[in-house]
Amino acid sequence: MKPTNPVFTGIETTVFETMSRLARTHQAVNLGQGFPDVDGPEDIRKTAAEALIDGPNQYPPMLGLPELRKAVAESNRRFHGLEVDPETEVLVTSGATEALADCIFALVSPGDEVVLIEPLYDCYLPLVKQAGGVPVRVRVTPPDWRLDKEALEAAFSDKTKAILLNNPMNPTAKVFSDEELGFVADLCIKHDVYAICDEVYEHLVFDGAKHRPLMTFEGMRERAVRIGSAGKTFSLTGWKVGYVTGPAALMDPIAKAHQWVTFTTPPNLQKAVAYGLGKDDSYYEELAGDLTAKRDRMARGLKNLGFSVLPCAATYFLTCGFEGLGLGETDVAACETLVREAGVAAVPVSAFYGSDAPSGYIRFCFCKQDWVIDEALARLSAFLTAERAESA
Ligand code: PMP
Ligand code: GLN
Repeated sequence: MKPTNPVFTGIETTVFETMSRLARTHQAVNLGQGFPDVDGPEDIRKTAAEALIDGPNQYPPMLGLPELRKAVAESNRRFHGLEVDPETEVLVTSGATEALADCIFALVSPGDEVVLIEPLYDCYLPLVKQAGGVPVRVRVTPPDWRLDKEALEAAFSDKTKAILLNNPMNPTAKVFSDEELGFVADLCIKHDVYAICDEVYEHLVFDGAKHRPLMTFEGMRERAVRIGSAGKTFSLTGWKVGYVTGPAALMDPIAKAHQWVTFTTPPNLQKAVAYGLGKDDSYYEELAGDLTAKRDRMARGLKNLGFSVLPCAATYFLTCGFEGLGLGETDVAACETLVREAGVAAVPVSAFYGSDAPSGYIRFCFCKQDWVIDEALARLSAFLTAERAESA
């Protein structure tokens, strides 16, 4: 038999799925895969349920329901001051993952270089490779996840077609500063490069900070596309409704890629997300406020247990060093120990690298009910206390 496509053959199942499976097997508290353990607003879910019963349940327009495209355009104006034409500059997709695939397939041709910033979300590398693109990796480095500007500058050349920028960033919980974003924008303009901006955590930003899309920087409106996810904005990760905003000239081929990937997204979910995007500011403030309290609850507990907790400005995630805790030499070993012996699932940060990953950090997801966070901390504490007693 002829070999199947090496991009997808023999690669491992995503670390998120693997850890969730292990968590089920070991009845562990699952702080691995990033999902809230309480579903998002009931009125949004009711809107979806009613639309499912009332219909229509046939193919919606390929670009997305007009009401959702309008809501996405309006949300761009309201939160970021961006004027967007809902007819030609917005596309609805089946999750941000599909949006990423559509953007990469539409903008990247075989041989094009694509700049990626490590640690990177796990679908980026396979999607770039499937497009025939050549990944060029640059790093932000712990503990402060600073962007190495010289390395970034060196990664750009005439062969660069696009940069894929995740901001706010998973798993680092970093929000790129205006100064860093300005630097990225200047490089994109200088080298005539597109920016594919994965901004799924745009509303999960803490401590009064505001997310600023790269698209709002001078000269970037015509060369950036930005991706959002209703899963994150409304705590409904299973819905897989995403949206892309970008200039009409880029949205045209991106919509053609979408046409051959999923074509459309369930209409009842689109209707409900359109309704959700119209929620008033207090919804968005509460979302970020609740997550801030959870972040602080978990960070305090982990610090007390001896983890070195890195700063977290956004997202669902805390990354931590575990040196001196006796969990194992590497992040993978530490996560194995934690899920099997402590009954708590986390994710090794090395899974977010193409190669030569640092191995001293693990990621905990904190978008959980308070009692779940407390239970996880209690389990970690019991395990570490027993470990210490044994080795004393
Ligand atoms: N990008 C990043 C950085 C993510 O963390 C996620 C996680 N879900 C996605 C994209 C995918 O979003 P969706 O579930 O809407 O496909
Ligand atoms: N984005 C989620 C995370 O980082 C996972 C989504 C998935 O499992 N594909 O945990």
